[in-house]
Formats: sequence, C-alpha cells, structure tokens
Amino acid sequence: MWNNPLDTCSVFDLMQQSPGQLVVISGPSGSGKTTVLRQVFERCPWLEASVSATTRAPRPGEVHGEDYFFLTKEDFAARRARGEFLECFEVFGRGHWYGTLQSEVAPRLAAGKWVVLEIDVEGTLAVLQTYPDAVTIFLRPETVEELERRLVTRGTESPEAIARRLEVARHELEFIDRYQHQVVNETIEQAVDDICQLLERTREQAAASAAS
Ligand code: 5GP
Repeated sequence: MWNNPLDTCSVFDLMQQSPGQLVVISGPSGSGKTTVLRQVFERCPWLEASVSATTRAPRPGEVHGEDYFFLTKEDFAARRARGEFLECFEVFGRGHWYGTLQSEVAPRLAAGKWVVLEIDVEGTLAVLQTYPDAVTIFLRPETVEELERRLVTRGTESPEAIARRLEVARHELEFIDRYQHQVVNETIEQAVDDICQLLERTREQAAASAAS
C-alpha cells in the first residue's frame, strides 16, 4: 500500500500543534536512572529536560545550567520566598535542597513542548497538584535486593552510603502506586525502549485527540 504524503504532512502538523505535556520520572538513584534518561533524550529529541536547582555542590564533571543550577543556600531560599519554584524540597536522605524552577517549565509548556522532570517522589506529588495531567513514570529496580547487589558489585560506595541509598529506595518505593506507569529497569536497553515507547504512544494519542 502507498503512503499518502498528505497523511504524513497532517500527522506532522498535528504534532506541531499538540499542546505541551509535562512528564515526571522518579526512581531510586544507583539503579542506572541517569544513563537510562540520557539515552531516552537521545532517542526522543522532542523531549526537553528541565534543569533543576540544588544547594548541593557539583560533582566532578557536572556543569552549572546543564546538570543543575548550583545555588547557594541563601540564593535558593530567596528564590523560594519569591515563589520561583514549581516545587522544592529538602530531598529525603540527602540534606540538600532541590527544586524545579517555574521558568524551566511554564514557558515551554505554553510553547507546546514536552518537558521532562527528573525529581523525587515528594516533588512529584507536589507537581501533580498543579499539573494533574502530568505523565508520571517510576523507574524501579526489580527488587531492593537487586539494587543492593548492583551497588555492592559496583564497589564505589561505603557500606554506610549503600545502606543510606537503600533506605531512600525503600522510602521511594512506598509511593510507587501514585505513578501512572512503572518501568522495571532490568537492562538499560529495555528500560529505554519501554519509556520511549510509552511516551511515543502518549504523544500519538495526544495528537489524535487534538485532531478530533
Ligand atoms: P542527585 O543529587 O543524585 O543528583 O539527586 C538526588 C535526588 O534529588 C534524586 O532522587 C532526584 O530525583 C532528586 N531531584 C533532583 N532534582 C530535583 C528537583 O528539582 N526536585 C525534587 N523534588 N527532587 C529533585
């Protein structure tokens, strides 16, 4: 069967006209989340990452304005008082403040973009108050035991740091039912595939309902 070029055009036009969409992704750190998300952004260039603000110090190689906006505690508090954050929290088990700046989200949504937040569970619940239609995805390890095995095998952290990460993971897993989608991170490739496919499907449905 021939493809009708007009059909292709109209789908493209609809994609352009689709309203913006917020996507929120959470999951315990130490489970490959950063690598998975990097590949998701490569495969779906129509997704835009929101850069969070934090009071924690940059890790080696991290760039201000790309990985995070690294702020002093005073600057963070002043912005918080001025209402510049969509949500902000002293993230569980971290002892540092993290927050999503309104300026990273609202203008892009208004311009019809798909904006991805990578934030913790408390942040997600707060965002849902403002954007109840956000697509929420929890990227989870198969089990906490599997996460522990990975952290121990990786050998980059002390037993105390691993114990703290596992405590945080257990806390986050208590909120998993609040997310629309759960993706099990068995391998990087499968997790990237699952996330991209579900977002592509959602995008097509949004385009179809914008057309009707
Ligand atoms: P890390 O310090 O390892 O980069 O991130 C620690 C935790 O902070 C992760 O669980 C991450 O999801 C969370 N986080 C990063 N940015 C934000 C944010 O803007 N808001 C909230 N609530 N959590 C965030």
